[in-house]
Amino acid sequence: MRCPFCRHVDSRVVDSREVDEGQAIRRRRSCSECGRRFTTSEQMVLAVVKRSGVTEQFSRDKVVRGVRRACQGRPVDDDALQQLAQRVEESIRSAGVAEIPSHEVGLAILGPLRELDGVAYLRFASVYRSFSSIEDFEKEIAGLREAMASTVGPADSDESERSAGGDERRHPAQE
Ligand SMILES: [Zn+2]
Repeated sequence: MRCPFCRHVDSRVVDSREVDEGQAIRRRRSCSECGRRFTTSEQMVLAVVKRSGVTEQFSRDKVVRGVRRACQGRPVDDDALQQLAQRVEESIRSAGVAEIPSHEVGLAILGPLRELDGVAYLRFASVYRSFSSIEDFEKEIAGLREAMASTVGPADSDESERSAGGDERRHPAQE
């Protein structure tokens, strides 16, 4: 990578550290020509395999766009969508695989979206899981009610991080 100051092609790594729980590496470099320092970061490319077999790079923006449609008219702002996309990416990356099928991206969206907004969740799930009958909705709504009953505290708490139950993936660091 060229030095951003003098465009020289050669640099020396003076420090490198893992960030994002080992998901990325950040390197501090020193230009061998002008001696100035700059930082580069290296992250595994996460590829999404579409049903057609075509792969494309995972994109948070795409997650946001997909979910935004389901959130039309709902009290969900852009920050919340960005946070949701970040959680989706983190949960996918934590699986440590380089490629995932696109339907698993949809799966990873369902959990955080259910916590964010029940109606948006139902809209998204109905398309994603191709609901074909009223019974499909009824089943999903029953599950949603159950999840809400177990997560909503006595006060209007903001503990969106709390597990909705049945979540087996726990961080070893929290044990
Ligand atoms: Zn330089």
